[in-house]
Amino acid sequence: MRALTIDAHGGTEQVRFREDLAEPALPGPGEVRLRMRAVALNRLDLWTVGGLPGVTITPPWVLGADGVGTIDEIEGEGHGLAVGDRVVINPGISCRRCEWCLKGEHSLCVRFGLLGEHHPGSFAESVVLPVSNVLKVDERVPDDIAAAFTLATLTAWRMCVTRAQVQAGEDVLIWGIGGGVAQAALRICKQRGARVWVTSSDPAKLEQAAAMGADVCLNHASEDVGRVVRERTQKRGVDVVIESVGEKTWNASLQALTRGGRLVTCGGTSGPTLQMDVRRLFWYQWSLMGSTMGNDAEFAAVTAELNAGRLWPTVDAVYPLAEGRAAFERMARGEQFGKLVLRVNDG
Ligand code: ZN
Repeated sequence: MRALTIDAHGGTEQVRFREDLAEPALPGPGEVRLRMRAVALNRLDLWTVGGLPGVTITPPWVLGADGVGTIDEIEGEGHGLAVGDRVVINPGISCRRCEWCLKGEHSLCVRFGLLGEHHPGSFAESVVLPVSNVLKVDERVPDDIAAAFTLATLTAWRMCVTRAQVQAGEDVLIWGIGGGVAQAALRICKQRGARVWVTSSDPAKLEQAAAMGADVCLNHASEDVGRVVRERTQKRGVDVVIESVGEKTWNASLQALTRGGRLVTCGGTSGPTLQMDVRRLFWYQWSLMGSTMGNDAEFAAVTAELNAGRLWPTVDAVYPLAEGRAAFERMARGEQFGKLVLRVNDG
């Protein structure tokens, strides 16, 4: 089968299109095999190419987490799915047996792993995965939108809805609005009636974010975001900060956060190690929260939004799977606004 793979870690030059990969084995009990139609890149895929501590790949390793496909084999019954159904993938694979899975908190699973990182990925003609990791897509949702939707929206949903519980009328600061999670967070927070502050180093991306409904657009290359937020809120600050940058933005995030404010992070793209003064944490009574992917209930909630025509992602560009490396290069250069989609099969 055709697939986008790596044999070794390195830069985007490692990304290689192949046509000679073996099809994955037919599904076992509780599994489903998909004929992929379209898939989409996430920052995670770029990290996988570069190599992640503690994660070993077996070459040729199939990349990719997100995607939409058609069921061509299914094992078991009672799941409400059938051969021929078009479904989206939840790329978070959990054991379904541990304490956290049994509590319904699948992204806290002790054996939690991601498609494309810990399990062979979605950038292939055929993918086998647990039946609990797919949900049906309404026929009105185009393949490109469905492919680009889940990882970013599920991550942002857990951050904004479950963890920070963003309320109408609150101020929310979101870093790096060129990214998929940030854009999904913007849509979710606007839907909930919040006032949203966004940042980017690119004036064109800020203009696009304003067109998407961002209330305040700040250029983090030329403006001191923490100070500007304090000035423009009469020293009050914002109620919620949505973080994924880590080292470079942490101090500004805390400077921007109001008394009793909530900060949620899902990443540390600029570096993992943070410093803070614990006196500020207890005095201002902040809640600092981590968040990763989402559970089954959140996957169902975001897929219902997708099927209702809400929270649809912005697609930056669409490439054929064979030209997938060009999409990785575009992401590595940070040029995209929204999602990069690869078409696998239109049939
Ligand atoms: Zn588990």
